[in-house]
Amino acid sequence: MNKIHNFSAGPAILPQSAIDASIEALRNFADTGLSLIEVSHRSKEYEAVVEEATQLVKDILQLGDDYAVIFLQGGASLQFDMIPMNWLGEGEIAAYTNTGVWASRAIKEAKLFGNVNVLASSEDKNFSYIPKNYAVPADVKYFHCTSNNTIYGTEMFNFPETNSVPLVCDMSSDIFSRPFDATAFDLIYAGAQKNMGPAGTTLVIIKKSFLEKRTKRTIPTMLDYKVHVENGSMYNTPSVFAIFVCMHTLRWIKSIGLKAMGERNKAKADLLYNEIDRNGLFTGTVAKEDRSRMNVNFVLTNKEHEAEFLKFCESRNLSGLKGHRSVGGLRASLYNALELESVQVLVNAMQEFEKAKMG
Ligand SMILES: *Cc1c(COP(=O)(O)O)cnc(C)c1O
Repeated sequence: MNKIHNFSAGPAILPQSAIDASIEALRNFADTGLSLIEVSHRSKEYEAVVEEATQLVKDILQLGDDYAVIFLQGGASLQFDMIPMNWLGEGEIAAYTNTGVWASRAIKEAKLFGNVNVLASSEDKNFSYIPKNYAVPADVKYFHCTSNNTIYGTEMFNFPETNSVPLVCDMSSDIFSRPFDATAFDLIYAGAQKNMGPAGTTLVIIKKSFLEKRTKRTIPTMLDYKVHVENGSMYNTPSVFAIFVCMHTLRWIKSIGLKAMGERNKAKADLLYNEIDRNGLFTGTVAKEDRSRMNVNFVLTNKEHEAEFLKFCESRNLSGLKGHRSVGGLRASLYNALELESVQVLVNAMQEFEKAKMG
C-alpha cells in the first residue's frame, strides 16, 4: 500500500508504535490470551494500563502529587458542562475568551450554570487571531481559554496572568505538542482524538486544591470530578481501548520528550507557512504571530482553483486537507505523529501546482 499522508484534524494521525501495539492487544492483551476488548477493566493487567497512562501524563508534564490525572468520557464537549457545573455557582461569574466554535460552545454551556464574562473575542475577524490585552478580573471563579483553535488555526503561545484566579484551558488540539508550564493551570482538558489517542476518552488534569473549591450545588455522581479522581478513572467502566492507545502514544511522546517534540512541530509548521507565504497561489488566513503549529489554515488566492488543488493533493496521497465546513479553504493538521516528510510532500505538491498554473 502507498503511504497516505494524514493531515486530518481529528480523529487524527497516531504513532505507528501505538497502532501496532493496539493490533497486537486486540489479539492477545498482555499475554492474557484474551483480546483487550474482552477483558475486565478491573483485571490487574488492565489496571496497570490506566496507572501507567496516568503516570506518563504526570511524567511528561512534570506534575507532582498536587495534581490529579483522570480519563473521562463524553469528549471535550462534556467538559464544557462539567467545569461550570462543578465550579460556577448560580449568580457567580466565570471569565472566558471567545476564540472560535469550541470556545463559543464552552461559553454557551457555562451560561446554563452561572454568569459569564466574555473578556475578549476575535469573532470580528472570523476568529483569525488571538485576542490580547485584556485583564482577568479578580472576582471571577475561574478563567477559561482555548489554547489551540483547531478550526481556525490560531494558537495561544502566551497565557494571561490570572493572579489568584484559577486558570482552566481546553488543550484538545495542542497538548503535548511543545513544552509548557502545566503547573500554571488549575485544570487542563483535552479530547484524546487530536494529539493523544483515538476518540472515546478525554484527559483531565486537575490541581487538587482547585478540586476542593467546587460549588455547593448538588452534582450528579458521574459529573463530579472528585468521584472520578477518588476512583482513579474507574468509578465506572472506562474507555478501555482508547486509554490503552493513549498509553502507547504517551510512551512515544515521553521517549521523544516535549522539547524535541516542540522543535519537530515548529520545523514542520515553518516549512509549510514559508511555502504559503512564498507561493502566490496560496494565502494564509491567520494573523502571523498567532499561527498554529498544529492546524495550518490557508486558501487558494484564486478560489476557483480550490477543488482542483484538493484533487491534485488526493492524487498524491495527501489526505484530510479540506478545511472545516464552517470556514472552507484548506487546513493541514500537523499533529505530533505527522512526519516532516509528509509536510515536504505537501509543499512539493504546492510547488508543482504553481508550475502547472503559472507555466
Ligand atoms: C475537537 C475539539 C473539541 C471537541 O471535542 P469532542 O471530543 O468532539 O467533544 C473541543 N475543543 C477543541 C479545541 C477541539 O479541537
